[in-house]
Amino acid sequence: MIRSQSCPICKKVLPVNSAASLATFPFCSVRCRDVDLYRWSVGKYAIVEPLDPDELALNDEQTESEDDDDYES
Ligand SMILES: [Zn+2]
Repeated sequence: MIRSQSCPICKKVLPVNSAASLATFPFCSVRCRDVDLYRWSVGKYAIVEPLDPDELALNDEQTESEDDDDYES
């Protein structure tokens, strides 16, 4: 039985014999691969809150001072 592979973005069925050599595998095309990358870049999958560099810097300072206070050597 031949297992068919479909593009996760557009659901188009990929030609089985080209799957292994397809540069954009498992996507059918560069366009679909870029769609997937774009979804990652906008944080759809993993990052919920936008990252603010100033806020991160403040959090780092607070975390470090808290660590110093809590840490018992
Ligand atoms: Zn596709």
